Amino acid sequence: MACLPMECPQPGDSSTPSLSTRGFIHSSETCGTVDGPGLRYVLFLHGCPLRCLYCHNPDTQGRPCGTSQTAGEALAEILRYRNFIRKGGLTISGGEPLMQPEFVHALMAGAKAEGLHTALDTSGFLGHQASDELLEQVDLVLLDIKSWNPETYKKATGTRIEPTIAFARRLEALQKQVWIRFVLVPGLTDADENIEGLAEFIASLSNVERVEILPFHKMGENKYEATGLHYQLAETPTPSEEQIERARQIFTEQDIKTL
Ligand code: SF4
Repeated sequence: MACLPMECPQPGDSSTPSLSTRGFIHSSETCGTVDGPGLRYVLFLHGCPLRCLYCHNPDTQGRPCGTSQTAGEALAEILRYRNFIRKGGLTISGGEPLMQPEFVHALMAGAKAEGLHTALDTSGFLGHQASDELLEQVDLVLLDIKSWNPETYKKATGTRIEPTIAFARRLEALQKQVWIRFVLVPGLTDADENIEGLAEFIASLSNVERVEILPFHKMGENKYEATGLHYQLAETPTPSEEQIERARQIFTEQDIKTL
């Protein structure tokens, strides 16, 4: 089974990679409604350097492996659903799509050439691997900021927040449309100071249209057993309406639109 290194060294070059570029695919959803505007084809790529405690797809973690397709093959499959997604578009998610930047670049460019709206769902941790040319092919970035407090971020993801902050600032410099996603986990990410810090940062960015507050749930728990991993949030409750409303209020106080 072929695998890619954990952090692909190539930052991408100025030319668009060919549609013959291969990517490792985890799964797809043909009529997604929550990963960008409208009805969307959502392609989940394999591979992720993070270890989020609440990850729904722990089987995507690690180096990209498994089933592979060329960008051209993936595009042909996506275009079979063109009539359904013409008012929505394509979202590339994961895992972490930027572990396979050349594949993402080729596929996004192919989709845009076919007139599709494109969205990239990323943690931003590997934002340095997205060239400006790749980002030109992306209409919307769904940027997952898992926490604001660096210690909480490390606890929640196993990694550092700094690359994500740097990527968010770069997206602002490029004036790229961004929706932020924040998972509200009781006892982990729900402290007022944590959300207030995130809200202040987001308010300082001129390109963020809204924040999506994603209440923690345990949908992926059974996958942990299947993959032999320990699910550390087994005793964590889902957030109450009051906790969700409190988080929403903190963002609203900074004039940030929430969903
Ligand atoms: S970034 Fe996404 S795919 Fe990666 S570990 Fe976190 S939740 Fe899972």
